[in-house]
Amino acid sequence: MSIRITGATLPDGTRTDLFVENGVFVDEAPSGATTVDADGLVALPGLVDLHTHLREPGFEQSETVLTGSRAAAIGGFTAVFAMANTMPVQDTAGVVEQVQSLGELHGYVTVRPIGAVTAGLAGERLSEIGAMAQSRAQVRVFSDDGHCVSDALLMRRALEYVKTFGGVVAQHAQEPRLTLGAQMNEGALSSELGLAGWPAVAEESIIARDVLLAQHVGARLHVCHVSTAGSVDVIRWAKARGVQVTAEVTPHHLLLTEELARGYDSRFKVNPPLRREEDVLALRAALADGTIDIVATDHAPHPTESKDCAWDEAANGMVGLESALSVVHAAVVASGELDWSDVARVLSRMPAEIGLLAGYDTPFAVGSAANVTLYDPAASRTFATGDLRGKGTNSPYLGRELPGRVIATVHNGHATVLDGELVDAERVAKEAHHG
Ligand SMILES: [Zn+2]
Repeated sequence: MSIRITGATLPDGTRTDLFVENGVFVDEAPSGATTVDADGLVALPGLVDLHTHLREPGFEQSETVLTGSRAAAIGGFTAVFAMANTMPVQDTAGVVEQVQSLGELHGYVTVRPIGAVTAGLAGERLSEIGAMAQSRAQVRVFSDDGHCVSDALLMRRALEYVKTFGGVVAQHAQEPRLTLGAQMNEGALSSELGLAGWPAVAEESIIARDVLLAQHVGARLHVCHVSTAGSVDVIRWAKARGVQVTAEVTPHHLLLTEELARGYDSRFKVNPPLRREEDVLALRAALADGTIDIVATDHAPHPTESKDCAWDEAANGMVGLESALSVVHAAVVASGELDWSDVARVLSRMPAEIGLLAGYDTPFAVGSAANVTLYDPAASRTFATGDLRGKGTNSPYLGRELPGRVIATVHNGHATVLDGELVDAERVAKEAHHG
């Protein structure tokens, strides 16, 4: 497939035409190209999500690699890292190769499997980290996400192991005993609502321990879904000391607060929980100053019955791929804290760099992989279930006015979204395999 994108605005504000042929950017218009009019659209490098739950194998009623890939593409993503809490767990070479192959088969996005740190996510012994790293999937990111690697010795051993091949451990920082039965952020509001609290210190204490372990080992640590102002302080301190730590924040923690728990609407139940206004402001500032490196969605689809119940029985989690760019726009671009170059950094270049995903370091350069998202910043919409493309409808934004819209997504040179709608699965798969 060859594509000619006319009049696009690059993140730095310059206007240009972009030409795509045989999967890469080329310097002149290919003949017979599909033309995309990008007048008024921002061209971002293809978005990369370091934290997606695709649910396959094992939980296909919630999501599959195909449906999650479609949700990603409509959100402007060209690559996602798939968390390990599948069934069977992604803790062997066989399972990670299966997930990677499904991604390649469908072709909407690059799917990079994340390996479990501990066998079966049980927190008792290390998984087959070396075998996953050496497998065809070449896993470089390891995480027990959903569970904290709370055993300090196991965490140390995992960091030592991934250091040997330059990998990274992505920690879900949640001290388990401090959060037993937790239902929402701990504070005055949890007392008022009579819900068991999830204290900030349960996150901050694990991050503090882990940055010290990472420093001691000399290995790379990544902190998933940072949610409190205190965590930001710990990470800032660690970075100042030269610790190899990176951190992510979710779109929802940049926009929403614990006040939404008042209605006991389980769409707002998530782990870590929505926090206070002052936490949200600290997270935005940390993303702007680089203390927090990236935005990652923690896209967590659930079947309706898991969310359509009383707050204390409902599953944690929100879908996020389809809305991520609009939410980042609303939370930190509209306020002027981030510009489009910053968005390109936190949603594409840096997540690729942390995950050691090639092809994202020189966006739009001639000869580099053609991954691009065309975004209309002037659009706005009342977000609705019709805007979702995965299986999950557990979005906290339904009925909310959100800015912007993804108009086109190009993954490795072939279009996955055109005119704001998914290209059909058969055509995407065919073009992914035959160029
Ligand atoms: Zn998590």
